[in-house]
Amino acid sequence: MAGVYLSYPFCAQKCTYCNFASGVQPRGLEAQYREALRAELASTEWPWRPETVYLGGGTPSLLDPPALAEMLDLIPGKPWVEATMEAAPGSIDDAKARSWADRGINRVSLGVQSFDSRELARTGRKHSAAIVEREIAILRAAGIANFNIDLIAGLPGQTRDSWQRSLDWIAKLEAPHVSVYMLEVDEDSRLGSEVLAFGKRYGAADVPSDDAIAEFYELAAARLAEMGIRRYEISNFARRGFESRHNLKYWRNEPYFGFGADAHSFDGRCRRQNAETAKEYLERYANGLPFTTSTTYAQPGEELFLGLRLDQGVEADWSAYADAVQRFEQDGLVKLSGNRLRLTPRGILLSNEVFAEFV
Ligand code: SF4
Repeated sequence: MAGVYLSYPFCAQKCTYCNFASGVQPRGLEAQYREALRAELASTEWPWRPETVYLGGGTPSLLDPPALAEMLDLIPGKPWVEATMEAAPGSIDDAKARSWADRGINRVSLGVQSFDSRELARTGRKHSAAIVEREIAILRAAGIANFNIDLIAGLPGQTRDSWQRSLDWIAKLEAPHVSVYMLEVDEDSRLGSEVLAFGKRYGAADVPSDDAIAEFYELAAARLAEMGIRRYEISNFARRGFESRHNLKYWRNEPYFGFGADAHSFDGRCRRQNAETAKEYLERYANGLPFTTSTTYAQPGEELFLGLRLDQGVEADWSAYADAVQRFEQDGLVKLSGNRLRLTPRGILLSNEVFAEFV
């Protein structure tokens, strides 16, 4: 069964490390965007009954409950097996959490990133560990016990000790699901461009070395495993039964519909991409143009590329890549059992090198 993704690219602040086309935008634009998103949803013919819904962006938790309800009412399949709301800590109160639960939201993904106040202050995030703790209690009281905590390994000033303390919080909060991302340094974020320019703004001079970031990631994997939170995808760890049903569809190459700016869709054969920015998305709506800006046939290597992200690996025909697979196996980056291909622990750290071969 397929999934639905809704993009809401509006945020209360622009985080320094963020390389998405999301951020602070004029308030008037939000109302227009909601109208366009509703129009896109309303014009859809559903070839299947959605099983999962994921509201991402951006910060969809900023949506007020009636606006959220108007959108969710346009998606068939309720009650969905899994419906996730991405949320910025500091934006959840009792009434909101209850309204989410009433509308079928049964999972919340919290963009925590760190539990260390100094690290958080430099990212532009406004929350604290105490706020996260309080809001998780609010979610649980509203009946939403399934939540994810995002963490970033490699924030400016992060040390082995501060990282350990963030991981202590995961144990304390008994998180069922954790995503651990290694900081991406690229020119699409303010922090990334500053690092590349050898500058000092946003704490760029204090970004840990690549080796330290890799060490933090491995430390997290080991400590989370001790807590019973096991890696099932490169960046995703869960207690048994709490793996993200929606995100698994991406890695298993299953179909999904994406709505809103920069949303992607896959029908099993073709991939579609919507206009990248909210502004462009709205211009297309105003001019009566399709929201989709590109459609391409799925490529043969994609199944490998996506499935390799999973801890269990992927069973696929990799004969077209036999030379590369042999080389990666000799270098200790992948492991073969029959037709099943998996990344080794070393391959996980160098996964971009492996994936580049299949893209
Ligand atoms: S990291 Fe999340 S909350 Fe921060 S600007 Fe990017 S999308 Fe918005």
